[in-house]
Amino acid sequence: MKITVDFDHCEVHGDCVVAAPEVFDIGDDDDVVQVLDDNPGEELRTKVETAAKMCPVAAIKLGA
Ligand code: SF4
Repeated sequence: MKITVDFDHCEVHGDCVVAAPEVFDIGDDDDVVQVLDDNPGEELRTKVETAAKMCPVAAIKLGA
């Protein structure tokens, strides 16, 4: 599945990192979330969908 993050809207809340740490990360000096894997396998879909739902600014979009 393809993941895109609208970095203009990301406010580094970190909810996505909690939901899917395999895919998202925030370092101490980061101004926006880091996408560790923008095309993760289907086994991570549930976690990524949860991350997208939890994002307070709806910055995470999932493709096929
Ligand atoms: S939950 Fe949304 S706003 Fe927070 S770090 Fe992730 S993408 Fe950014």
